[in-house]
Amino acid sequence: TDVLVEVRDLKVHFPIKRGVLFDRTVGHVKAVDGVDLTIVRGRTYGLVGESGCGKSTLGRALLQLTPPTSGAVTFDGTDLTRLPAGKLRAMRRRMQMIFQDPMSSLDPRQNVESILTEGLHTHGIGGNRDERRQIIGETLDKVGLPRWALSRYPHEFSGGQRQRIGIARALVLGPDLIVADEPVSALDVSIQAQVVNLLDELQDSLGLTYLVIAHDLAVVRHISDTVGVMYLGALVEEAPSDRLYTEPLHPYTRALMSAVPVPDPDVEDRRERILLAGDLPSPANPPSGCRFHTRCPWAQPTRCADERPALREIGDSRVACHWAERIASGELRPHEVRP
Ligand code: SF4
Ligand code: MG
Repeated sequence: TDVLVEVRDLKVHFPIKRGVLFDRTVGHVKAVDGVDLTIVRGRTYGLVGESGCGKSTLGRALLQLTPPTSGAVTFDGTDLTRLPAGKLRAMRRRMQMIFQDPMSSLDPRQNVESILTEGLHTHGIGGNRDERRQIIGETLDKVGLPRWALSRYPHEFSGGQRQRIGIARALVLGPDLIVADEPVSALDVSIQAQVVNLLDELQDSLGLTYLVIAHDLAVVRHISDTVGVMYLGALVEEAPSDRLYTEPLHPYTRALMSAVPVPDPDVEDRRERILLAGDLPSPANPPSGCRFHTRCPWAQPTRCADERPALREIGDSRVACHWAERIASGELRPHEVRP
């Protein structure tokens, strides 16, 4: 396989400051705390988890928009964390981001033409005005926006069209990698599928590589080749998309799956219902041992509270649970399953 992105033991810790001058560090929020993952060229890696699990921070750290505390991010053979600022800026053209809310990520005072031209200027692409217009016109075609859109402003478009502008802004630079952070969660459900399908078509025609971040498992299911599930700054499970949805192995993944609505109302839903106890603990003060043990319906004394499970290979999945096999076989039963 042809690897485009390799993340190794990536950590992003934010200091918690106190004191009158905020000059005293009293702890750290371990937003990302030791993540390893690989993104294959031309494929989609879906990253899911509850809000606050660190998935957005991971996406930003991958692009070096948030500086990692430690670890490596290799992009097409180059470790971005060791790249001088100038070289990183040039590399940025190849790594673009799509945001959740196109309205807040697009400057309302800029029309579409100037939104799309800005990146070309920054990276010195397109020699003259005609060349730039040509590139921009082709980009509009790719995302299915008419040419007259160029003279209009973001507020003149619907949410779905605004997201197309956001996608066009990323595409105009001819990137290899696109990190899409909740690309459809601000859109009506009826529009979500259109945007996901557009991303999928663009991937096929342009050979793009995606990291798609979402709290909604249903969104990443069909577009992702591999899905990683994050909990409190760490990956708890990673698997080929089909496998993850049909045979989730980690208790947290099982709980997330059981909360996904059944697509076909005529099909009887026989899945287990797993309700998680309590809220997501603070990433400033994560639980000992397995970080999920305070909410896990399968937690076993005392190993789960004492020993942090490593992410280990089981079949074609990677799972961070001491008891994954015995849970999968049904030998261990959950403490509480509600109908
Ligand atoms: Fe649950 Fe223990 Fe597995 Fe963690 S290691 S997911 S607490 S069973
Ligand atoms: Mg695809």
